[in-house]
Amino acid sequence: MPDFEKRRDKVRHRIRNSADAILVTNHLNVTYLTGFTGEDSFLLINRDHEMLISDGRFTIQLGEECPGLEVDIRKPGTTVVDRVGSVARKLRLTSLAIESESMTVAQRRRLEDSLPKVALRDTEGVVEGLRMIKDKHEIDATRSAVGVAERAFAVIRAGLRPGQTEKEVADALDHQIRLFGGRCCSFPPIVAVGPRSALPHAVPGPRRIGDDDFTLFDWGADHRLYMSDLTRLVVTGRISRQLQKVYGVVLKAHQRAIAVIRPNAAMHDVDRAARETIAAAGHDKHFRHSVGHGVGLEIHEAPRLAPGQQGLLKAGMIVTVEPGIYLPGWGGIRIEDDVLVTRSGHEVLSSVPTALEECVISV
Ligand code: ZN
Ligand code: ZN
Repeated sequence: MPDFEKRRDKVRHRIRNSADAILVTNHLNVTYLTGFTGEDSFLLINRDHEMLISDGRFTIQLGEECPGLEVDIRKPGTTVVDRVGSVARKLRLTSLAIESESMTVAQRRRLEDSLPKVALRDTEGVVEGLRMIKDKHEIDATRSAVGVAERAFAVIRAGLRPGQTEKEVADALDHQIRLFGGRCCSFPPIVAVGPRSALPHAVPGPRRIGDDDFTLFDWGADHRLYMSDLTRLVVTGRISRQLQKVYGVVLKAHQRAIAVIRPNAAMHDVDRAARETIAAAGHDKHFRHSVGHGVGLEIHEAPRLAPGQQGLLKAGMIVTVEPGIYLPGWGGIRIEDDVLVTRSGHEVLSSVPTALEECVISV
């Protein structure tokens, strides 16, 4: 069980100079700080205690997921924001930090109306900043999410047959992830045959395995609330010269970017290592997204490994590395792994082979 109290103390520490309390409205931040996975519930943390404001649908669940946590169950007909107003008045707060990336404009207005004497302080990234550094529990959960994704992929890959549509394969992959114990996919999987793979976020459709030489898979599992995110190519036809060349460049970019990952490396340097490798091969215009992102309770979360990101990597961060080259009309190649920043460098959590020869299967 994660140390939720320790996490909440860190939040307290982060806001102590700016407000009497913080209202956590982002539901994944609430989960991170309490273990509660339901929705429509806000967590109020002040200097010496905390309270989860929820409703009657969750009474039993709250007892199961966060025993011991003080909860306030609002009455039917009262909104969560109204209830926050009453609690804040009772606590005699003079200032309240809010999560401006999650609270809606309407909720903020209502809260202002109900708390005319309380100064609302907009904050960004207070909890997300903590979520960037994973503790042991989170690293273990991510490791299992990677394991589930890999086992599901191995089954699908072994069973690929010409004539299966992208959509059928994506649905079967989802099913396998569930069979291996995953809650679901961490995002709708991408299964893209040939030219469809030139769309970095292709939606699986009626194209069939075998319609072209290769199929790109981008998939992941949601397991114990943590996400994995992988991309691999499967070659079902011949390896053309173009495929060999493009794949070789992407693989080199992928390896070079991973090699940069260690504590105190600048985030943009990871991106640059991949981008320069791709540019040197004349494909700079064909790589139009950043090289990676944090992965955790959310499939895309802080940090971002992108140009201009001067922040430094820290031990405990888990990031994807996913350079790609996309050639309209021909296809796209991307290789993606989940990488943990360790104290001495990094550990690639995923283990699906990347060498082109190992992407070939006979169907
Ligand atoms: Zn992905
Ligand atoms: Zn990704």
